[in-house]
Order: sequence, then structure tokens, then C-alpha cells
Amino acid sequence: MGIEAEALVGVLALQGDFAAHERALALAGAGARPVRVPADLSGLRGLVLPGGESTALLRLMAPVGMEEAVRRFHGAGGVLFGTCAGLILLAAKVTGPEQPSLGLLDAVVARNGYGRQIDSFVGTGRIGLPGEEERDLEMVFIRAPRVLAVGPGVRIVGTHSGEPVLLEQDRILAATFHPEMSVQPEGGGPIHRRFLAMCDAAGR
Ligand code: GLN
Repeated sequence: MGIEAEALVGVLALQGDFAAHERALALAGAGARPVRVPADLSGLRGLVLPGGESTALLRLMAPVGMEEAVRRFHGAGGVLFGTCAGLILLAAKVTGPEQPSLGLLDAVVARNGYGRQIDSFVGTGRIGLPGEEERDLEMVFIRAPRVLAVGPGVRIVGTHSGEPVLLEQDRILAATFHPEMSVQPEGGGPIHRRFLAMCDAAGR
């Protein structure tokens, strides 16, 4: 099929750096629709949960019923891509401090696991995406969470200093860093392309 007029992916646009994800997806060749209420999910194959502040995101999602809507979206075959705060939202258990989460990604994460804002950094990690050669990748960590444990269904597809920073499980892709901040003018970046490939696969 040729290029489709309708956007097939959405970006949760309640708080955080959703605009950077929209740009990254555009560079990777996909139009993205801002998602603010459950009805915006209709017809989408994938949804990005951006970085920002997970507590603020939870507070903005609750009144419009977005948590339940995201769970239903995934249950019905939708693909989810969470970065930083978005990964925290997806996790099964959140510490530092504890807070509610969607519980879709079988991982335990510690918020602000590297310290405070001033401890944010840019590093080089390794990714080994399914079907691709392992390689180095620039990774931007901003008050990033740390993954403390993952369940058996979770595949670690990216590491930094030997620690898991990029995870896949079912139709979920989750990064503790910000791939939307390291995009290339041509083709966007490999993590956004991976998300779009997962969306393609889910549509078949
Ligand atoms: N520390 C933030 C939180 O706990 C996440 C930071 C980010 O998304 N860059 O939600």
C-alpha cells in the first residue's frame, strides 16, 4: 500500500516533549496525531508516551480516563512506545518514590535513578534491535529512571554501561533515555524507526 493519508501513530500530548517526538516521527516518515483524550486513539496503530514528568502526566490522564484507554488500546493490538517518564508510566512497579502506573511493561523502575536534574547527561550506549547489527548510539538521559529488574517476557535491546535502557515486550518499546533528542535529519533515528516497524507488524 502507498502512503496513507491518515496518521497511523499518535503522541500523547498532555505534557512533556511530545513535539520532539512528532518531529522525530515526521523525519522517520510518519505523520503523528496529538492524543489528548481517549477518542483520539481511534484508528491509530501506535502511541508514544513521551518524556516529561510522570506524576504530572498521571494527574492529567486520570480526569479524561486516559490510563484505562491506553490499557484498552494495547489490549486491542496497539503498539506503545514510552520514553523516560513514558517508560515510568508503563512499568509494573515504580519506586523512588512509589507511584501508580499502567503495569503493562514487566519491569521495576526507580525514578530519577541517576540523581537530580544536574546529573542529566549524554552518553553512548549499545543497541541490538531485532534483525539489526549491534551498534553504538548516542543516548540523552534527563533525570532518567533506572531499570532495576525485568520479567522473563522482556527483551533488553539497549544498554548503557551494561545497564538495561531500552526494552521490548509484546507490542511495547520503552527507553529510559530520549531518542527523540538524537534524531538525524535523514530518517529520524533507529528507535523511532523500530517503533514504526512494530506498528507495521501489528497492523498485519
Ligand atoms: N524524572 C521524571 C519522572 O519521574 C522523568 C524525566 C524525563 O522524562 N525526562 O517522571
